[in-house]
Amino acid sequence: MLEIILRNVTVNFSNKVVLDSISTYFKSKEAVLVVGPNGSGKSTLLKVLAGIIEYSGEIIVPENYLEVSDLTGYVFQNPETQIIGSTVWEDVIFGLENIGLSKDEMEERANYVLELLELSHLKDFDPYYLSGGQKQRLAIASMLALEPEFLLLDEVTAMLDKNGKKEVLLAVEKLKTLGKGILVATHELNVFAPVCDRCIFIEDGRIIFEGDVHDGIKLYKESAKNQYLSEKLQFEGRNLDGSVEIQ
Ligand code: ADP
Ligand code: MG
Repeated sequence: MLEIILRNVTVNFSNKVVLDSISTYFKSKEAVLVVGPNGSGKSTLLKVLAGIIEYSGEIIVPENYLEVSDLTGYVFQNPETQIIGSTVWEDVIFGLENIGLSKDEMEERANYVLELLELSHLKDFDPYYLSGGQKQRLAIASMLALEPEFLLLDEVTAMLDKNGKKEVLLAVEKLKTLGKGILVATHELNVFAPVCDRCIFIEDGRIIFEGDVHDGIKLYKESAKNQYLSEKLQFEGRNLDGSVEIQ
């Protein structure tokens, strides 16, 4: 079992604290649902784990790894930004070209991930013509070919229709059975709740809840409702003081 441990991980963007002393852990075979309002720091947390954002604090990785990015692969919300090949096959191969594999090894890995994500029959297709769900599965396949131990999925179903969401969900279930650790940052609580084992609820860069998925979702929904009500009251207050007259 592999584990990534975060101790007081903090991220600042131009004097603003975006992640505020986050301490938690992620381990293989576990899917973690990361929830929180827009701008709360979900993507920042995933990007820190992908090694693409500077942080202070400590990220502890297993002994035979040098840095956290050696363990992780980040998949974006919009698969279009991640797909570069002019065929499905090429897209997977492109990602493998810089890591010093033999041609046979590259082909073996490409065949394996395309089979796993049920894209083998589309090998020679131009990714442009794929459905949203197929594109996102291709983005996941290309990432998976690099053999990360943890997949960081950032709002990966946000742009997909119902079928696409279902396809990605099935892919996530499969990744879990492979023993991968998975982080899903999402607003689509109901889509991912069934496959997640733990929930982390972030607000203003802090973890305000960590634990059972259903408890976390309940808390998040209550908090979203309270936020809405307080904004509504503020809005009505502005009208009542006579500064703005509607009608
Ligand atoms: P979430 O994914 O939960 O919506 P993010 O992690 O994307 O939130 O953003 C957290 C905060 O960090 C937001 O206030 C956002 O405006 C800010 N932020 C994100 N990326 C940058 C950046 N490159 N430069 C400055 N501020 C950023
Ligand atoms: Mg985000």
